[in-house]
Amino acid sequence: TTNHLRHVESMATMPSGAGNIPHLNAIVLGEALASEENDLIFPSDDFSRQAHVPSPRKYLEMYKRSIEDPAGFWSDIASSFYWKQKWGQQVYLENLDVRKGNIRIEWFKGGITNICYNCLDSNVEAGLGDKIALYWEGNEPGVDATLTYIQLLHNVCQLANYLKDIGVKKGDAVVVYLPMLMELPITMLACARIGAVHSVVFAGFSAESLAQRIVDCKPKVVITCNAVKRGSKVIHLKDIVDAALFESSQSGVSVDVCLTYENQSAMKKESTKWQEERDVWWQDVIPKYPTTCAVEWVDAEDPLFLLYTSGSTGKPKGVVHTTGGYMVYTATTFKYAFDYKPSDIYWCTADCGWITGHSYVTYGPLLNGASAVIFEGAPNYPNPGRCWDIVDKYQVTIFYTAPTLVRSLMRDSDEYVTRYSRKSLRVLGSVGEPINPSAWRWFFNLVGDSKCPISDTWWQTETGGFMITPLPGAWPQKPGSATFPFFGVQAVIVDEKGVEIEGECSGYLCVKSSWPGAFRTLYGDHERYETTYFKPFPGYYFSGDGCSRDKDGYHWLTGRVDDVINVSGHRIGTAEVESALVSHPQCAEAAVVGVEHEVKGQGIYAFVTLVEGVPYSEELRKSLILNVRKQIGAFAAPDKVHWAPGLPKTRSGKIMRRILRKIASRQLDELGDTSTLADPNVVEQLIALADV
Ligand code: ATP
Ligand code: MG
Repeated sequence: TTNHLRHVESMATMPSGAGNIPHLNAIVLGEALASEENDLIFPSDDFSRQAHVPSPRKYLEMYKRSIEDPAGFWSDIASSFYWKQKWGQQVYLENLDVRKGNIRIEWFKGGITNICYNCLDSNVEAGLGDKIALYWEGNEPGVDATLTYIQLLHNVCQLANYLKDIGVKKGDAVVVYLPMLMELPITMLACARIGAVHSVVFAGFSAESLAQRIVDCKPKVVITCNAVKRGSKVIHLKDIVDAALFESSQSGVSVDVCLTYENQSAMKKESTKWQEERDVWWQDVIPKYPTTCAVEWVDAEDPLFLLYTSGSTGKPKGVVHTTGGYMVYTATTFKYAFDYKPSDIYWCTADCGWITGHSYVTYGPLLNGASAVIFEGAPNYPNPGRCWDIVDKYQVTIFYTAPTLVRSLMRDSDEYVTRYSRKSLRVLGSVGEPINPSAWRWFFNLVGDSKCPISDTWWQTETGGFMITPLPGAWPQKPGSATFPFFGVQAVIVDEKGVEIEGECSGYLCVKSSWPGAFRTLYGDHERYETTYFKPFPGYYFSGDGCSRDKDGYHWLTGRVDDVINVSGHRIGTAEVESALVSHPQCAEAAVVGVEHEVKGQGIYAFVTLVEGVPYSEELRKSLILNVRKQIGAFAAPDKVHWAPGLPKTRSGKIMRRILRKIASRQLDELGDTSTLADPNVVEQLIALADV
């Protein structure tokens, strides 16, 4: 309780100007929080004392400045980076309103820099040359490697020199299809060093998906490896690339070079299929190049990379990020949302094939001079304790993962967690989907021993970095809430008509002005960029997600607005019903969709995965439904519970509701594009259980 009082006190003495920020009014009042004591989890005094942002008051001070004077706020931060030449007079320029012409966002235009220089050279110059930049943990326990900042710089320079040698120039695209080897961040950084634009394709995508992306940006070179082992499975990546390159050549796009890393632990050189005139072994050429390479200086607004969204809702979108704003934004969000300190060991379980791997495996941590773990394998191999084994091995202090992983580990015995110490941990993080309060509590109580704040970071491929996120030393947390907007982010909730709603409310999550990490266009399709994100609510960036704000000003993501279910006039977010189901001790995972219902308009159809070893039964079905009735109300009770041995997920682990909707309404011949699905077999299993 002393903790609690300290926070309430600090809120009572909030600067009065903070009240001008409408959605923070409630929290400024303090009493609102005091009355909700039971829902709140406070950071310890010790944690807050050492934090970059130790109190709501400090947050408000900084947030207020970031909104009232974005140019000053961000240029102060940007000044700590290396710029060959400072940006022009105008720090940023924006038009987010389709009625006023084309959508345009620019930050630090005219500033000349290089993100690879800021990740590596700057840190080496600052004396961090011998600090470990990357700890690599292989698929098999005991197989590992490290790279210091100086070693990483040398490796990056060698590849950069090779790429220049084969004619890759500033602005050229490079397609990367690599698993989580050191060579993946090395490749991203080498591209950045010479001003080339990387397009990393998650090395789990099919040949068709890869071919589509190759045809889209027509690279001179594709970089891959021969194979990878994930768990006990060997995946022949080079065969997939061969097939993709054949397919793209049929569409008239031929690639000159396929640079292939020999991943010896998975497959030997000799057994790899080879095309002499096109394929080159990485190990044959790269080590011969010099370990220094002059940097290609680029404008802040020159493109850094191209990355497709996960494809949860339909055809993936080729998101384009530029250099300067992205650099400043990822570094700053990393520092504050994880309360990063130089002594931290950071591990993010995401693959570099997703935005999380771009911003928070590669760029954000390296820009901060951090030591980061990257992991090649599967989190449950050789057993479900692997993550905690890795945490202990490297003494990980910040652990960032996705709700899907948390839920899957919850299915197994807690003993897999408790047999490891996990004492080094101080901050946990979650991203990708709303985290159900029961998964949040398991993560917090068991994994973090009730002492590590959880940064539930809401953001998107499009946003480049965190948008709504706890600052771990500042905020009392509510399990399942992403809390408050990051500095400079004017997150607003609008109604159907696009009118902002204040106070306690629920609606469409939008952003009112630009932030440095915002995407600038969709590759080759600026019109789709405007139509998808800026036309639905003119004047705002529309996220596509639903959100509610409680009386204390906390934000709760309710899922994608396309997924909202309307039952007899009640608008129900999928996240809420799923959380009620998952809070049942025998339910491991749940996905809820709407189906047509004669009386109610829409009915609720729930797919439910049970905890390992629990049999299906009518009794259990009833007890699951009862959980929802009790927690939300009778109107939200599922009309149907469909047993699901597994759920269809994207390769980044998100539930694909559009496929579930088709199964629920038995439109089985209209499943649509399933190429981004991780395991297509799941669909057949689900269909087979439809009437059980
Ligand atoms: P597509 O746009 O192709 O359908 P996607 O939206 O899944 O794919 P991403 O950009 O990887 O692709 O994911 C962003 C989305 O993930 C967000 O819009 C949101 O729906 C969800 N999300 C991410 N983090 C969180 C979080 N902390 N809480 C709730 N939802 C989250
Ligand atoms: Mg999306």
